[in-house]
Formats: sequence, C-alpha cells, structure tokens
Amino acid sequence: MKKKTVVLTFDDAVISHLENVAPLLKELGFGATFFICRFNDDWRAAHSRELLTASQIAQIARMGFEIGNHTWNHPDLRKLGPEQIAEEIQRLDDFLTDAGIPKPVSFAYPGGPFAENAVGILRQKGFLAARTTELRPFRPGKEDVMRLPAWPIQGEDPGLFRNAVAQATEEDAIILVFHGVPDRVHPWVHTDFARFREYMTHLKDNDFRVLSLRDAL
Ligand SMILES: [Zn+2]
Repeated sequence: MKKKTVVLTFDDAVISHLENVAPLLKELGFGATFFICRFNDDWRAAHSRELLTASQIAQIARMGFEIGNHTWNHPDLRKLGPEQIAEEIQRLDDFLTDAGIPKPVSFAYPGGPFAENAVGILRQKGFLAARTTELRPFRPGKEDVMRLPAWPIQGEDPGLFRNAVAQATEEDAIILVFHGVPDRVHPWVHTDFARFREYMTHLKDNDFRVLSLRDAL
C-alpha cells in the first residue's frame, strides 16, 4: 500500500527550530522545509536571542533540511510593486547565499495569502513552488505549484493537527505550517514542544511519509 504523505514547513526562523524541531525530526527520519525571514532591523535586534542567526540556519541546512525563502521583512506582497517584491526576495536569497546555503527553490507567502502579483517574479528567480495557507489537501502533480495549500497548526487544540492529517489519502498529501516550538516571539502561533512530539509520534506510528516541500513536488 502506498504511504500517505505529510509535508512539514516551519516559518519565521525562530531558535526553537534548531534547538527542538530539527533534532527530533532527524531522530525520526523526517524531512522538512524551514522558511526564513529576517524582519526589520529594530525588531530583530530586540528579539535576537529568540531568532536564528545565519550560521544557525546553515546548521539546519547541513542537517539535510530544506531552507526556503519567506522574504526579508515579511510584508503583505499583495500591497507591493514588482520592484519591492523582487528586492524582498533577492535580499533574503543573498543573505542565505552568503551563509553558504543553497539558493532556495521553495517560497512561502508572508502571512499566508496568495499574492498573484509575485508569481512572475518568483518564477524568474528560479522558484519551483510557493506555499499559501489555503486550507485544502495538496495534490502532487495536479496543483498550481505557485499556490500550494497548507494548514497552520498552533495553540492548545490537538484537533487542528488530527483533523488536518486525517485528510491525507494515498493521492492527496497534507502540508502543515508550524511556527516556533515553542514560540516566544509570536505567542499567537505557539506550539508546545511536548505536544509537537506527540504529533510527530502520531505520524511515525501511523507510517506517514514526512517530507520537505522540495521532496514532495
Ligand atoms: Zn511568516
């Protein structure tokens, strides 16, 4: 029987991705994509102890995980012109390249909504896929790869996770979005580490394939 697939993505580059998430996924043999953004200088300086540095992101890449682009400042791309969009994407690509990380091929729209005005620029810059937070299953091979769906998972209700992964079938994969595990800078998208471990154990025990976005395409 064909295995069901779950794609794991982690947004906004917080330190718990290196401290908690990556080691656990490695231990379980799971793939994942980490979407990196940097936010503005003042905010980054104020929260520097909670955010991944360039070398810490490189460490996650060296563990075998995919690193994706989530723009530099995390703006709503629907409100920006083409030059600003290109600059947001390029600046983050350059930051990753300087850290010795391969140029990303996966992108996640900041905040989640699909930004149609960014698609041409993403293609031009060599991106192969872009993730929204539209709530529906992912049909590999039949999907607009520049408008991939995903379920955000956060907070105290394990039903969110259970209901999302219950929709995976042998054809339809499910893409999940987590933020920090834990998340001390974006508490509204926090996931407790003990709870996260339960979620990952559920995937392991039920024999899911757990992949990065790149590997699922
Ligand atoms: Zn984000």
